[in-house]
Amino acid sequence: MRLVIVGASGRMGLAIARVAVETAQLQIVGAVDRAEATGYGRDIGELAGVAAQGVKIGSDLSAALAHADVMIDFSAPSATAGNLAAAAAAGVAVLVGTTGLDAQTQAAAAAASQRVPVIVAANTSLGVTLLIELVRAAAHALPDDFDIEIVEGHHRHKKDAPSGTALALGRAAAAGRGVEFDRVAVPARTGGERQRGEIGFAVVRGGDIVGDHQVTFAGEGERVTLGHQATDRAIFARGAVRAALWLAGRAPGRYEMKDVISLKTTI
Ligand code: NAD
Repeated sequence: MRLVIVGASGRMGLAIARVAVETAQLQIVGAVDRAEATGYGRDIGELAGVAAQGVKIGSDLSAALAHADVMIDFSAPSATAGNLAAAAAAGVAVLVGTTGLDAQTQAAAAAASQRVPVIVAANTSLGVTLLIELVRAAAHALPDDFDIEIVEGHHRHKKDAPSGTALALGRAAAAGRGVEFDRVAVPARTGGERQRGEIGFAVVRGGDIVGDHQVTFAGEGERVTLGHQATDRAIFARGAVRAALWLAGRAPGRYEMKDVISLKTTI
């Protein structure tokens, strides 16, 4: 499977390169970044601290895609729409991990999925993907007198709160319960009694926490807690590479990370 990495000299681009080099079925055939990027012109393997791959980081995406099966994009929200269009034109499957995408980029993903298989995933960890589905199932199974509270923790530099993953967990809980997320979400509780049906969020920020998420269903006399702790950012790269392998060769269309893990739920 021939892989092109976009955002190649970034933190995730290099993490993906390291995982790809260890993955027998994958060969890196292209590495794309901006000409101003620190690693521009360098061999992607050497820059990632592994064996040289004979692939220099360049800026010509169309040329890189000409002999590729799958593209992984962890770049910038402003770049992703164009990258999706280029992959669709080249007939190359796409895994987008870039976050903060606007409506225009989501429309570009929809358009690309007419021609190639596409996954857009704000969290490519397989563990988080599983957790989201378990939360959906638990919210569906338990009556609504089980109060749903989501606690998340991240490092001190994180810009957004609650995290996108915490919100995705809340949305899955709301969907499982059959309620509209925006009507029940309480992103920051500062006082007063809890109202029935709320999905509450609490945020911890400090140190170097990579990412903790815990969803509690608190009933009368019992609690169910589902959680995930990330200790290494490589999980996002491993999940992305697994999803890319899964995508390549599929029929055109829009897929999700949950399709990549073989969990069969009916909710
Ligand atoms: P980074 O800043 O280290 O790397 C981004 C790279 O993209 C940089 O090298 C930059 O030069 C490059 N880039 C910017 N514009 C480009 C363009 N037009 N064409 C090609 N390359 C371009 O950031 P990062 O930590 O690697 O994160 C990248 C993205 O991935 C962010 O949106 C981040 O939120 C997201 N992310 C997603 C997950 C997930 O699980 N899906 C996990 C971690 C990060």
